Amino acid sequence: MKNKLILVVEDNALNMKLIKSLLQLGQFDVLEASDAESGIELARKQKPDLILMDIQLPGMDGLHATQIISKDPALQKTPVVALTSYAMHGDEQKARSAGCVGYITKPINTRSFLDTLKDYLKPDQQLEQSA
Ligand code: MN
Repeated sequence: MKNKLILVVEDNALNMKLIKSLLQLGQFDVLEASDAESGIELARKQKPDLILMDIQLPGMDGLHATQIISKDPALQKTPVVALTSYAMHGDEQKARSAGCVGYITKPINTRSFLDTLKDYLKPDQQLEQSA
């Protein structure tokens, strides 16, 4: 079976390194972008199975990038999971109204990260199976 492709949009190099190692451990293929614009461009070119989107990015923020992605007919079905360091009340709602299917808080919980991610990939797999 082909590995699922995950696009990570994250400007913090240490977080990127950690997320990438966890994803590789989970047999995922990884695409990296450090800002919203290149993330959107990569998403359009490579059609990842899921996008992990940091909310706080230099320039365009992750919520705006998610709005663009969720309005793009070619990417509408690609789940976007927000990465947020400020786990404040209201963030989940903001992320969801921008088009995110959910969010993962930073610092990343290395034990639960892959399980959480697989939950967000499930709806897609079920669709494929019933098709
Ligand atoms: Mn950031």
